[in-house]
Amino acid sequence: MTRVLLTGGSGFIAAHVLEVLLARGHSVVTTVRSQTKADAIRRAHPEIANDRLSFAIVEDIAQPNAFDQAVATDPPLEAVIHTASPYHFHAQDAQELLIPAITGTTGILKSVQKHAPLVKRVVVTSSFAAINDVFASSADKVYSEADWSPITKEQANVSPANAYRASKTFAERAAWEFIEREKPNFTLSVINPPLVLGPIVHNLTSPDTLNTSSQRIRDLVSGTAKTRCPPTGNYLFVDVRDLGLAHVLAVEKAAAGGKRFFVVSSHFSNAEIAKIIGEEFPEYKARLPTGDALKPGEYPTDGVYGFDNTRAREILGIQFRPLRESIVDAVKSLLPLGIDKT
Ligand code: NDP
Repeated sequence: MTRVLLTGGSGFIAAHVLEVLLARGHSVVTTVRSQTKADAIRRAHPEIANDRLSFAIVEDIAQPNAFDQAVATDPPLEAVIHTASPYHFHAQDAQELLIPAITGTTGILKSVQKHAPLVKRVVVTSSFAAINDVFASSADKVYSEADWSPITKEQANVSPANAYRASKTFAERAAWEFIEREKPNFTLSVINPPLVLGPIVHNLTSPDTLNTSSQRIRDLVSGTAKTRCPPTGNYLFVDVRDLGLAHVLAVEKAAAGGKRFFVVSSHFSNAEIAKIIGEEFPEYKARLPTGDALKPGEYPTDGVYGFDNTRAREILGIQFRPLRESIVDAVKSLLPLGIDKT
């Protein structure tokens, strides 16, 4: 059993990381922004004793020393998984994303260095956004952990999507630079997921507060996307359950230290998601885009980049779920929110 701090426990991905940590016998302190969110997570795990699941309130990861109290737990922490970071495409100003992403990441590393001397491993959730060159991707390119997004500060200001990509790239760079400069007692592992799909297990009361990557499934089932399938964006996905396991294996496996992990299941397109929903849930078929309305969500005609997930399969030992399983389970998990009633 390892004593782990998980940041952003109320999030889509973190909720799965928490499930895996608890199922594998670890003891977890998770940070959330409010007591209400802590109470909701507590209610979802009635079988877990307080000494294996407790909470620390961190309202804003962008504040200096935000994690100082959260990391000083008794018994002391042995590992940290940092998932908290804003993920949306409606920032008015790039700084809304850049500051919490970068300060949150460097902040947790500094707090661990100062106040949690027994921590041996910190795992940070980065993104394919920190790998992918969105400005020059070609069908010949095969992405792996060796690649870095070349996005600049100037490009971060061009669009909310660029602001998000830059936030992930600069935050991950800052984490590796911290390790290089400070040579702390812990090692760093970074998880770089592409689009994350699959069932929600975090506590939501409304489809309006759904995490960004699940929104395309909501919009297809609700019929909002009937006249225009949303563009796919990046054409790689991973299931959130495999991603949860990847984070925990990155804590457990000594060989994961000092490495990035590009955790990819396969290619996908929004047009394929629509097709799977139509086949598996024929009652919603009439709401799905067809013909020309499907085209924006299809693969580009000149092909799409490849990926190499060898390291995640060989060092972490992950076997990735296929797209159909992720979509079927995502839709089932979203129906109780009334996504088919809009
Ligand atoms: P969610 O929006 O569901 O989770 C984000 C979490 O970060 C929430 O717990 C949120 O708290 C917390 N958070 C955001 N800003 C702050 C802040 N200023 N102070 C404190 N907490 C904050 O998104 P995901 O679960 O999808 O994302 C989790 C991580 O995975 C992020 O780092 C994201 O960049 C990364 N990622 C996600 C991908 C995806 O497709 N989903 C793909 C690649 C990477 P609250 O909900 O209370 O606001």
